[in-house]
Amino acid sequence: MTRATTTAAGSVAVALAVLALKGVAWWWTGSVALFADALESVVNVAAAIAALAAVRYAALPADANHPYGHHKAEYFSAVLEGALILAAAFVILNEVWVAVAERQVGTLTWPAAAVALAATAINALWCRHLFAEGRRLRSPALLADARHLLADVVTSLGVLAGIALAAATGIWWLDPLMAGLTAVNILASGARLMRESVGGLMDEAPSPAALAEIRAIISRHAEGAIEAHDIRSRHAGRSTFIEFHLVVPAAMTVEAAHEITDRVEAALRAELGEAIITIHVEPEGKAKHSGVVVL
Ligand code: ZN
Ligand code: ZN
Repeated sequence: MTRATTTAAGSVAVALAVLALKGVAWWWTGSVALFADALESVVNVAAAIAALAAVRYAALPADANHPYGHHKAEYFSAVLEGALILAAAFVILNEVWVAVAERQVGTLTWPAAAVALAATAINALWCRHLFAEGRRLRSPALLADARHLLADVVTSLGVLAGIALAAATGIWWLDPLMAGLTAVNILASGARLMRESVGGLMDEAPSPAALAEIRAIISRHAEGAIEAHDIRSRHAGRSTFIEFHLVVPAAMTVEAAHEITDRVEAALRAELGEAIITIHVEPEGKAKHSGVVVL
């Protein structure tokens, strides 16, 4: 198992444990907000399983069928995760509607609050771990899972605060109000996640800063060449794809030109990690004289 797979498997275990705890807390209180919170945990279990499958598939090496590798499987999982988050938010809003119509009041007991807090603490700790691992391994699926858990932790804290306030003040609508606010927060987080994942699937360009870094690395290491242009780059999970045209003096030997491309490739890999690079060599005279000029 790769490190990402182990982490994704850990997420499934954590989601199951948290679901059990939140289910108990809801059972004991009958609170709408806690129901919404527990239901969100069912989504977590499904999302964690999808992330695990995606991370395992994405780790497969390139093969004849998928010569560019399987990295994008992770974006599918992240889009699915965003969709599940959105669905959970709508279910919660529906529960809020019912609670308001029927003026349901939950009761909060200390044991229930303790169980719900324990579940939230587990989620918060695992969320931190997922963010760290996801960034380190540049895994869209793990980062999506982390984002999801963060939304859950905020939700759970809001829900508990709402129930506690409702119990302390006797104002019944504080419970559904907090549930509604958390649903809005979940909606926003799901929408953001989907937008980013779809960006990955659509081969969105790297940030201007990342592109500038790629240009700088090329211009630092392409000594002997005249110009580099038509630089294009995209990310697929851990891998960065880079392609560009390299203009060299027309009389330069193929061997010498190839040496430059090898040097640039090595430098890009040293700085960016896993990179798949294609360089098209052109003789001077075909040069567009745009893009980065390297001397
Ligand atoms: Zn394949
Ligand atoms: Zn060109």
